[in-house]
Amino acid sequence: MNIYDYTLEDLEQYFLSIGEKKFRASQVFEWLYRNKATSFDEMTNISLKLIEKLKEDFTIEVIHLKIKKESIDGTIKYLFELKDGSLIETVLMRHSYGNSVCVTSEVGCAMGCSFCASGELGLVRRLTLSEMVLQVLYIDNELQKRSERVSNVVVMGIGEPFDNYDVLLKFLNVINYPKGLEIGARHITVSTSGIVPKILEFSDFPLQINLAISLHAPNNDLRSKLMKINKVYKIEEVIEAVKLYIKKTNRRVTFEYILLKGVNDSMEHAKELVRLLRGINCYVNLIPYNKVDTKDYDTTDHERAEEFLSILVQSGITTTLRKGHGLDVSAACGQLRAKEMRK
Ligand code: SAH
Ligand code: SF4
Repeated sequence: MNIYDYTLEDLEQYFLSIGEKKFRASQVFEWLYRNKATSFDEMTNISLKLIEKLKEDFTIEVIHLKIKKESIDGTIKYLFELKDGSLIETVLMRHSYGNSVCVTSEVGCAMGCSFCASGELGLVRRLTLSEMVLQVLYIDNELQKRSERVSNVVVMGIGEPFDNYDVLLKFLNVINYPKGLEIGARHITVSTSGIVPKILEFSDFPLQINLAISLHAPNNDLRSKLMKINKVYKIEEVIEAVKLYIKKTNRRVTFEYILLKGVNDSMEHAKELVRLLRGINCYVNLIPYNKVDTKDYDTTDHERAEEFLSILVQSGITTTLRKGHGLDVSAACGQLRAKEMRK
C-alpha cells in the first residue's frame, strides 16, 4: 500500500492497531509532506524496529513525470503517467501572490461539456488520494529547491472533483495539514460543473475552501447545449444550492464564465447574467476560451470581453477578466493529455 493513500486519521488507526501511539502518524506526515522524505530510513525520530515494520506494510511511491512544458509566461504544464498508463495533467501558474497549482481529479471526465478537451474521451476512472496529492507534492518538491513553495491549489484540472467526492475531501485535508504542505484553506479552490447534491454536502465541510461554479451560460437553453449536466441539474437548482451554500458557510462563491465567441458573449447574455446573479454574494470570473483544436469554438475578442465585463461591473457584480495562462503549451484543461493520447 502506498503511504500517500493514507490520511492522517488512517495512519493514526494503523499505529493504534499495531500497539503504537497515535502521534506517530503526525511524525510520519511531517516527514513525508514537510521534509519530503523519500524513504522510511530518513525518519530519524522513529525507532529502527518501527521503521522495519513500516517498510513491511507500506511503500513510498512517487508519481512519474512523462512530459514537462514551460510557457513563455512561466506557466509550467506537467503530464504525469500513472501506474496503469493513464495520463493526467497538472499546471503550475506563477502569480504575483504566489505559486498556484491546478490539480486533476479524474482520468477523463464523464460530464462531456461541449467545449472541453477533458471530457472528449469520457471518464476512464477516478483518481486515488495518492494520485491527487502527489501532483502537488511533486511541484512543491521542485519549488523547494528554489526556496519557493506551492501557495495555492485549484482543483480545476481534468475531471469533475465532485464526482470523486470522498477522495477530494481527503485530498483537501492532506494538503491543508499544518505540519505538512500547509496550503491554507482560503488558498484552495474547488471548481464544479454544478452537481447540486454535492454543493449542498460541501457546505458542511469544515475547512474554509473556496467554491467555484462553472456557469458558462445565463439560461437553461444555452447551458444545456454547452453542458450536459444542466439537463440533470437546471440552472435554477444550481443557483438555489449556491444560495444555501452561502447562507450556511457565509462564504462568497465564484461563478466561472468562459467567453465563447458568438455563443454566450452578447450584451444580452451579459444582462441576463446580471439578472440571474443579482443579490447573490458572489464573484464572476470571466475566462477567455483556450482554443481546443478538435472543437469549433473560438475565443471572444478582447474588446467584446471588456464590454461584457463592464456590464457586469456597472451592475455592481464583482467581476474579473482572467488572462489566459500558458496558451503556447496547451494549457486548456485536458489538451496535452488528448494530444499525447492521439499520438
Ligand atoms: N469539472 C470541473 C473542474 C475542471 S474544469 C468544472 O467543470 O468546473 C475547470 C474550468 O475550466 C471549468 O470552468 C471549465 O469549464 C473550464 N474549461 C474547460 N475547458 C476550457 C477551455 N478550453 N478554455 C477555458 N476554460 C476551460
Ligand atoms: Fe468535465 Fe469540467 Fe471539462 Fe465539463 S468542463 S467536461 S465538467 S472537466
